[in-house]
Amino acid sequence: MSFLSTLTGSFATPAAENPTVAVVEAAYRHHGIDARYLNCEVTPADLGDAVRGARAMGWAGFNCSLPHKVTVVEYLDGLAASAEIIGAVNCVVHRDGRLTGENTDGQGFLASLRTVADPAGQHVVLLGAGGAARAVAVEVALAGAARVTIVNRNVRRGEELAALVDTRTPAAGSFVPWCAHHPLPDDAGIVVNTTSVGLHPDINARLDLDHDTLRPGTVVADVIPNPPRTVLLREAAARGCVTLDGTGMLVNQAVIGIRLWTGVDAEPAVLRAALEAALAA
Ligand code: NDP
Repeated sequence: MSFLSTLTGSFATPAAENPTVAVVEAAYRHHGIDARYLNCEVTPADLGDAVRGARAMGWAGFNCSLPHKVTVVEYLDGLAASAEIIGAVNCVVHRDGRLTGENTDGQGFLASLRTVADPAGQHVVLLGAGGAARAVAVEVALAGAARVTIVNRNVRRGEELAALVDTRTPAAGSFVPWCAHHPLPDDAGIVVNTTSVGLHPDINARLDLDHDTLRPGTVVADVIPNPPRTVLLREAAARGCVTLDGTGMLVNQAVIGIRLWTGVDAEPAVLRAALEAALAA
């Protein structure tokens, strides 16, 4: 008999202001799951010990935040298919003595996107080429997007992600350097901001885009969860676009993590209410 609740959590640096704690714990309470989700501040030098500790203590799994998403891979026993392509892990699952790395950022985005659009056959334009972009690009490509265009300031990072999509997924990947007052292509069905521009506290920061190239009916998504209504989404809504904020991605990646760790399908509305309360606090 175990006297401990199932342990899950996040290894983060720094650990403060992580809304996922409130979101996951609300789901555990709502569904009567005897588990806790703890936020642990882990330095890069201590990551190996932290993972070995989680294994030794029988944690069901944990999330990894920056800067651990790539380096954690060396301490795991295997990777899920999309995490292997993305090359980064944000969720680790401990099952039958094995630690498996998953990437639920992209899966969470895809689940959120599917509430408004199916990426199959679409030309998806991604603004940014960082960690969130890699996860979103690979998942929309594996979900059947015809083309994924990466727009980024840093050419090396943008070209590398376009090549990853092109060589490791069925979609065609291409790179376009970010120019001043950047126009969006006419045939873009889905545009996703995966940069950190607009994230709290810089809530009025603007992407250097020609917003008038956003056409009515285009799906415009932002991965930024805080604030949910970014400048980009306000500009897009004013031009008749279908908008999708970053809270759905966060809620869905938590739903997927809880399913992987506990086998329970959590009610998304419960997690969303907890997220809204955490962001309003
Ligand atoms: P990274 O640091 O890995 O990447 C940041 C990206 O933003 C780079 O492509 C960078 O371009 C670009 N960028 C930064 N500033 C500018 C600018 N002024 N103009 C144009 N491009 C810019 O960060 P992540 O990918 O890990 O995170 C990005 C965002 O995704 C964060 O805001 C994070 O909160 C959000 N996120 C949301 C999640 C959710 O559940 N909703 C989950 C994970 C992340 P360059 O390469 O040229 O420097």
